[in-house]
Parts: sequence; structure tokens; C-alpha cells
Amino acid sequence: MIRTATHRFRPAVLACLAAGTATGLVAVPETRGAAAAEGDQPRNIIVFIADGCGESTHRAYECWRGEPMVYQGPEWSRYDATTYALRPGSRPSRGVEPLEQDPRYVYDFDLASDTTPDEGSSGGYPFHVRGYRWLRATAPDSANTATSIFAGVSTYTGAINVDGAGTPVPSVSRAAADAGKAVGIVSTVPYSHATPACAAGTSVVQREMYHEITHQMLTSDICTVIAGAGHPEFDDSAQRRESPKYKFISEEDWTALRSGTLATSTPVAGATAGVHDTPAAWTLVDDVDTIRSLATGDTPERLFIVGRAAQTLQQIRAPHQNGDSTPPGGHPRNTGVPTLSELTLAAINAVDDDPDGFFLMVEGGAVDWAMHDNQIGRMIEEMDDYHSTLETVCAMLDSGDRGFDWSDTLVVVTADHDHLLLGPDSDTVPFQPLEDRGEGNLPGFRWHSNSHSNIPVPLFARGKGADRFESIPTTAAGPKRVFHQTAIGRLLLDLIDEPTAAASD
Ligand SMILES: [Zn+2]
Repeated sequence: MIRTATHRFRPAVLACLAAGTATGLVAVPETRGAAAAEGDQPRNIIVFIADGCGESTHRAYECWRGEPMVYQGPEWSRYDATTYALRPGSRPSRGVEPLEQDPRYVYDFDLASDTTPDEGSSGGYPFHVRGYRWLRATAPDSANTATSIFAGVSTYTGAINVDGAGTPVPSVSRAAADAGKAVGIVSTVPYSHATPACAAGTSVVQREMYHEITHQMLTSDICTVIAGAGHPEFDDSAQRRESPKYKFISEEDWTALRSGTLATSTPVAGATAGVHDTPAAWTLVDDVDTIRSLATGDTPERLFIVGRAAQTLQQIRAPHQNGDSTPPGGHPRNTGVPTLSELTLAAINAVDDDPDGFFLMVEGGAVDWAMHDNQIGRMIEEMDDYHSTLETVCAMLDSGDRGFDWSDTLVVVTADHDHLLLGPDSDTVPFQPLEDRGEGNLPGFRWHSNSHSNIPVPLFARGKGADRFESIPTTAAGPKRVFHQTAIGRLLLDLIDEPTAAASD
């Protein structure tokens, strides 16, 4: 039931740190926005996030792959981003200083790299050294980090586009929609998980409010296309359930989506122009062949794509076991579900005919889930799906045959946070890097937790406006250029809000 897209003319509004082994960082919690420059605003912005993909995650995939990744070429600029939260805890503060940075969580190179032996442990994982303990104890989550990246605001763990007091903050995608751009959100995990929720411009005080998040996504006028896992009618192995499980979307919204009656809200009269001038009904697509067919041709005005799998497209499929080190491809993959590349191609086709450009977020979300489960093989599978998506998009930009290329598009490749994955002897050799055991082989590794760490993450940028990252003040004392993730969000907001030379209609 695909309807032909109505051509939408919108008034263009105004327009390694490898476990602390790199050059020392000093603890400076805030950076300012990048200096403005005339005429360097990209028409399109694509942000790739591999969730939980710190330096060692990149390295693990690189060892197995046997060659550098597409974003390690000379055309790309490399930075590092600190990821720390405003404070721990999953609720907004009612205190007198709800927006104040808790200094104990600010990335501190000396504390992070402390190799003094530590006999303690937590969650079944020994600390070994004080640095590991500190990195684990001060770790951020995917919600506070995504709020930094997509709204430029530091906040508490669990917050979705709200500040430390729980007040909603303006997001990059809201700004993009207000500037007339199409917005697309793609993930390998449920559409309402923290990263896509923030990227889609929703605001809630607690990340587990999945029904509310999805309802906001579907009833705001921000997104043109949303694509991910999170199907109520299928399980993690892509098998149909006996009865639906409404974890990530309410039964009411799902039923309305199914019947084609769920529409965006009516834009407020006289408000800044959003994506649409009238409410638009969502078209639900979950059949994998139809999803693949959406890579070309006309697309519905609003497109909600959900793969027929419960939580991840592939990662939690049976047999599923924590600590499983089966190499990539060692277990049969789910069938009947799309790849991240296929979701992304459909999403790009849905947003790329907008005359004002687009904002697209693509998340390898299950990279993080595999890391939580200490499954290095499945982590590499997820990285491979993510990286091949990147290669596909980069080839599209190289050719320019879709009407956009590097001259008008900014691509940012980063992660939200790190996991503490180190070399095989890193229990006795502090911060030992992963051991390269050759192409097609798992690297030598050791898990130091089943959750996140506070190690800064790499960021790669290329395309129109990428040089703006150069002007973000660094927080590092040394040659490495380091900034807090909030600088990413502020830069993206600047790039969207500044008047552009192309903003003529
Ligand atoms: Zn995580």
C-alpha cells in the first residue's frame, strides 16, 4: 500500500585513546561551539553511530577484517570525544543545581590510567588496577551520550533529550525538520531505544519509557522515515510469536500503524514550518522483500520500517549465550529480516529527494548489545554489517548519482561510549591492547566488564563542513584533538541553523 510521495516544497527557514594510552588529557568539562564560517553548511548530514564502539571495538573488527576501515582513509579527519555524563542516576534532579557537572565523572587521564593494583571486583569482573575501576565506575550510558550528540547538552544517565532538571532541550533533528529537511532514523535495535530516540528528537526523562518515545516519534512532525528492529509479533530469532509482546510500542499505536490510521499531529498554525503542512499517515512495512524494494522508486510520505525480529535484527538470535566466543558466522543468521544496509538504502531513498536536504542517523545498535553479552564474534558480525553500510553510503557519495555527494554532505562516524575490552593479558599487563591474530581470526582479548567505560571514543568526519570540527576547542593537553560529545551536537545545530547560500526559496 505504498503511496506515491507528494513532492514537498517547504519554505527553507534560516537556513586511541586506547584505554588512556594516548597523550594525556586534562579534565575540562565543557567546550564552546565551533566558530562560524560562511558558506560551509552541508545540505545533508549523516551521522553513523556504532553503539559501544570504542577504540578497542574498532580494533577488534579491524584485526578480523585484516585491513583498515573506510573511515580510516586520508580524506577523513580523526578526533576523540569524551563521553561522561553530567552525573549518574536515571532521574532528573530536584536539587538546587540540577545542571551542575558532577566533577567525579569528568574524564581524568591520570585516574583513568592509574595502574596501581586493585584487589576489588564488581559484577563478577575483577578490577585488577585502579584505572579499570575508575573507568567502569564513571561510565556513561547511551542516553546521556546521545543527548550530547543530538542536542549538545550534557545530562544524567537515562535522559532522552532532557537536561539535568528533566527539561526538554532542542534537538538536531527538530532543527533539521524546522529547516525543511527530511529526517531519517535507522538502527539494528528497536526504534525506541536510546540512540534512535534521541536522534529522532523525542524527549523523555527516562529511557525505558519506550511507548511514550515511540508515540512521540510517530506523532511529531519530525521524521520522514524510521527503521529498526522492535517487532511485537516476532521473537529474537525472527520467529512469529503466539501472541504479540508490546515492549517497544503500545498495542494501540501498533494497531493504528497496522491499519494505516496513525498520523502525525497537525502542525500548529503559524509555527515554524515543519516537515509537513498537513498530518500524514504512516505506512508500516515489515516484509523484507518490500523493504528491499524501497531502495529505489517512490516512497510513502511517512515510512515506518520494522524488521521481523523482537529486539535486534540478528544479535540475540538462538543459540544465545553470554560469553560465547563463536567466531562471526558460526551460527546461522536470522532469515526474513533486513540488514542495516537494506534499511539504510530504503531510508536514504525516502529522504533524498527533499530540496532542502536531509538529516540521517544510522546506528549499529547491536554492537553494544553483543559487547554487553561478551560475544566478540557477534560484535564483529554487527560491526561488519555497520561497516558495509558505511561502504555503501560512501560509494553513493563518491559517485554522486543519487543527487548528493561529498561537496554538499557531511558524514560523521562515531560511537556513543566505550566498553572495557582489552588484550589477553590485560589482567596483569594494564591497558594491553588487543592482540592481532591475523585476518579472519578473533584477536586476543579479555573482557573487563559487561557494561560501559568512560574511555573517550573516536570520531571521524568527512565532507562539507567537516573542517568545522577543527575549530572546536580541544580539552587535551597534547597533539590529539579531544572534545566532549556536547560539542558535536552544538556543531550540528550550528550547521543547520546558520543561513545557507542555497536557502533561496
Ligand atoms: Zn550499552
